[in-house]
Amino acid sequence: MTDLNEAIDSLPFRLEKVSDLISADRMHVLQQFRQVVESQLEIIRLALNANSVVLLWSGPANGNISTYAFSSVGSDVVTGSYPVGAGIFGALKDCSEITLSPYGSNSPSIPYYRNTINVGAFIAQNVYCGDQNIQTSGDSGILCADRNSVEAWSAAERQILDKAAQHIAKCLAISRDLLLTDVERRALQLVFNGLRTLNSALDMQSVYEAACKSLGFVVQSDLVAISLIDGENHEIHYLEGHCTSTVLHQRFKLADSIVGQAVKYRCILPERASSIGRAPVVNGLKLFDLYQSVLVVPLYQEDTPVSGVLIVAARAENQFARNCPEMLEMIAAQVAIKVDLAHSHEQIQQMAITDPLTGIANRRAFKRGFAAMHERAKRRNGKFSLIICDIDLFKRINDVYGHPFGDQVIQQVANQLADVVRVGDLSARIGGEEFAILLEDTGLAGAMDVAERLRKNVENLKLSFQGETVPVTISLGVAAFPADTDNQEKLLNYADQALYRAKKNGRNRSENWGSCV
Ligand code: GH3
Ligand code: MG
Ligand code: MG
Repeated sequence: MTDLNEAIDSLPFRLEKVSDLISADRMHVLQQFRQVVESQLEIIRLALNANSVVLLWSGPANGNISTYAFSSVGSDVVTGSYPVGAGIFGALKDCSEITLSPYGSNSPSIPYYRNTINVGAFIAQNVYCGDQNIQTSGDSGILCADRNSVEAWSAAERQILDKAAQHIAKCLAISRDLLLTDVERRALQLVFNGLRTLNSALDMQSVYEAACKSLGFVVQSDLVAISLIDGENHEIHYLEGHCTSTVLHQRFKLADSIVGQAVKYRCILPERASSIGRAPVVNGLKLFDLYQSVLVVPLYQEDTPVSGVLIVAARAENQFARNCPEMLEMIAAQVAIKVDLAHSHEQIQQMAITDPLTGIANRRAFKRGFAAMHERAKRRNGKFSLIICDIDLFKRINDVYGHPFGDQVIQQVANQLADVVRVGDLSARIGGEEFAILLEDTGLAGAMDVAERLRKNVENLKLSFQGETVPVTISLGVAAFPADTDNQEKLLNYADQALYRAKKNGRNRSENWGSCV
C-alpha cells in the first residue's frame, strides 16, 4: 500500500489514495507505465549516444520537480526533488526546448548531477502532460539528455527527443485514463455492494449503518450524520464517527443553514465541499466547525419532497474535492427509498404489537415479552412478577352507558397501567377488559404495592357519563417468579387464580397466589 501510494505520488496528476479502492490492477498499470518510460529512455539514450536521459516532473505531492525515471551509463544521477526554478528548469519556463552545446561552466546547472564535468552537450524538452480536466500542480514534465561530446544536437536528434516526449505524454494520458476508470469502476462495484447491503436492511438502524458503509466507498470521511426532516426542522437520527449523544435525536431549524439550502434546492452543498466562511452546516450546532470538508447530500426520491440529508465531514481540507456527485446522488436516492420503507416497516411492526384501542402492548406483545422476561430472569437467577387485572362488572357499564363509553373506560384504565410501569416493565391489554403487567426484578411485595397503587388510581378516576359519575374498579391477581413457581405457564395460571379469588372476595381488591393456597 505504501508502495502504491508512493507510485501514485510520483505521477504528475492527482489520483485519490482511497484505501478501499486499492487494487492489484492499479499497481500493474503504474508499473507498466514506468516500464514503458524506462524502455523509451533507454532507446533515446542509445539513439543520442547520451550519458543519461532523465524524465522529471512535478508531482502533486509537493510541487517540486522530481526524477521519475532515468537511463544512464554511469551511476552519478541523483534522484530527488528540486525546486521548480532550479538550474535549467528556470531556463525551460519560457520555451519548450533548450539545447546547450557545448555545455560549459557558465551554463545553468543540471540538478540531477552533482558533478557536470562529463557533460559536453545538454538538451531538454518539455513534456506536455497536462489535462484540462485533471488537477495538476505543474502541467509539464521535462525530458533531459546529456552526452560527453560537445557536438551540437542535430535536427534529427532533437526530433527523436521530441517524438519521445510526445510518446511519453500519450502513454501517461492512457495510464491516467486507465487509473481513473479503474477507480470509478472499483468505486461503482463497491457502491453496488454497499447498496446490496442497504437493500437487505429492514429496520432504520441497519439502513443507517448500510448507508454509511456505502458512502465509505465513495468518500473518506471522519463523520457521517443522517438527519430526517420534520416540518421546518430536522432531527439527527444517526451519527457515526463522533460520540456526542447530545447531538443525536436533537432537532434543529432548517433555516439559515447549509442543510436547509441543500433541502430547498435539492442539491449537494456546499460547492467545493468547503464550509469555511459560509452559513453553518446545521443551524445552532458547532460540531461541524471542527471539519474543514463537509458535504450535505439531500435524500429524496423522484417527485417526492426531500425527506432528510446525509452529512459527511472530514477534518482535512479538500477531502471531497473529487466528490463523485453522481455516486453520492445514487446512494442518496437509494437511502431515501430505504428510509421510507424502513419507516413503514417499523410502523407495521409497531402496529403488530400494539393494541389499537389503548395504544399499549397487545396480547401478542405480552406473550413475547413474558417469554423474554422469563428467559432473562432464569438466566440471571433474577425475579419478576405478573399482575393480571380485570375491570369489575364491566358488562354492566357497557349495558348501562353503551359500548362507546365502555371503550373509553378501557382506555382510561390502560392509561393508569402505563403510568405505574417503569422502564423494563410491560403493560398490555390481553383481552376485552383484561390487562397484564410484567414487573422486571420485582418480587411479590413490590408487585403487590404496584397492584394496590393501580387499583386505587383506577378507583379514583371519577369517570363521568353525561354528568353522572360512573364508579370504575378493577380486581387484580399477582404471582411472582420464582417465589411462586419457576414455570411460565403456571405463573400465568396462578395470577389468574389470584384474580379469580379477588373477584370472589368482593372485587376492587388485589390478591396474590400465595394467599390462595
Ligand atoms: P367481572 O367483574 O366478573 O369481570 O364482571 P364483568 O362484567 O366484567 O364480566 P365479563 O368479563 O364476563 O365481561 C366482560 C365484558 O367486556 C363482556 C364484553 O362485552 C365486554 N367487552 C369485551 N371487549 C370489549 C371492548 O373492546 N369494548 C367494550 N366496550 N366492551 C368489551
Ligand atoms: Mg370484568
Ligand atoms: Mg373479563
